[in-house]
Amino acid sequence: MGEKTTELMAKADEHLIRVYNRFPVAFAGGKGMMLVDVEGKEYLDFASGIGVNAFGANDEEFTDAICDQVKRVCHTSNLYYHEPLAEAAQRLSEVSGLDKVFFTNSGAEAIEGALKTAKRYYYNRTGKNDDEVIAMRNSFHGRTVGSLSVTGTDAYRNPFYPLMGGVSFADFNDLSSVEAAVTDRTCAIIFEPLQGEGGIHPATQEFMDGVRKLCDEKNILLIFDEIQCGLGRTGSFYTFQQYGVKPDILTTAKALGGGLPVGAFVVTEQVAANSLKPGDHGSTYGGNPLCTRAVAESLRLLSERNLPGHVKETAPYFEEKLEELTRKFSFVKEYRGMGYMQGLELDAAVSAGAVVKEALSRGLILLTAEGNVVRMLPPLIAQKADFDRMEEILSGVLADFAK
Ligand SMILES: *Cc1c(COP(=O)(O)O)cnc(C)c1O
Repeated sequence: MGEKTTELMAKADEHLIRVYNRFPVAFAGGKGMMLVDVEGKEYLDFASGIGVNAFGANDEEFTDAICDQVKRVCHTSNLYYHEPLAEAAQRLSEVSGLDKVFFTNSGAEAIEGALKTAKRYYYNRTGKNDDEVIAMRNSFHGRTVGSLSVTGTDAYRNPFYPLMGGVSFADFNDLSSVEAAVTDRTCAIIFEPLQGEGGIHPATQEFMDGVRKLCDEKNILLIFDEIQCGLGRTGSFYTFQQYGVKPDILTTAKALGGGLPVGAFVVTEQVAANSLKPGDHGSTYGGNPLCTRAVAESLRLLSERNLPGHVKETAPYFEEKLEELTRKFSFVKEYRGMGYMQGLELDAAVSAGAVVKEALSRGLILLTAEGNVVRMLPPLIAQKADFDRMEEILSGVLADFAK
């Protein structure tokens, strides 16, 4: 570790609340698939800042648009209209196939908005305040009190009870456990079509179909959280589009602003007409000119460069590399995922965290997920040569753990 890093770490650690276990690396910049730290060392990025930097580092077209917007106006408030807001909303409706958008500042806030929408819809329909929500075990929806209430991971929840009431948990990909949790007060069912933090678990077609049918029969709103798996990452704009199963409410964030902090919840016309009314919801920053310009630009670039198509075409090569690693090392149990959202599950004998740490020191940025999984979320611009390089570095790391 270099001197610049040590100094910077000491300064940060003295003044920041310690809720993260950070790696001893400080990034200073980068280009495309490569990041560079303050010491000048280069790294191959297979994390995208946790699924955010879809275009990699410092994309010229994207950066120019943001700089242009900064010079025009960054903030005006939601008392007025502006061009980027209209443009971003139109593009997001188009790519999602849903109708009405509300912009937030984060993923967790998108979940908050989705939950409020479902509650309001139920209240309009029944006149009652006794709604319930069904979420999945092993899910992740964010760190605010509302989003934590539907997050099915005990370690995140336990220190913060009491949370929002009326939430019950079912098993992901187990339709009968969802059916068993439904009551006549259920207002919404929420899940990730491809669980991310929980360990890279894709929904089965039967589960998607079954839950949709159940929701239709019982007048329950279906919320898909595509904050991590959306926006081209799995090979279509949204993952649900590959299943042919549409939600009533969609949450999206992470890659939405190409690096700027923005999320959204998007609903059908029918939900919009029967839920939130003027005065029911709001945000000072949400939908500001800078972040919505980033959304409009991200969605434009995703479409124009056909990155969902590129992911779909190149992902089999990525999977070949993962298959080779799985065959080569007996402690790699399996690989799974969709598109550029993949995980390698390891035996308990080898810690995924230790593998990620070692890979970082050798210039490869990876992530972990629950269940001893090495998670990979490369920028959507990744090419075959990047997967070759990833395999080469990771293979060297794993070989050391095999000793
Ligand atoms: C990251 C994530 C969130 C939370 O988003 P924040 O921007 O961190 O609040 C919610 N749901 C899923 C699936 C996520 O991956």
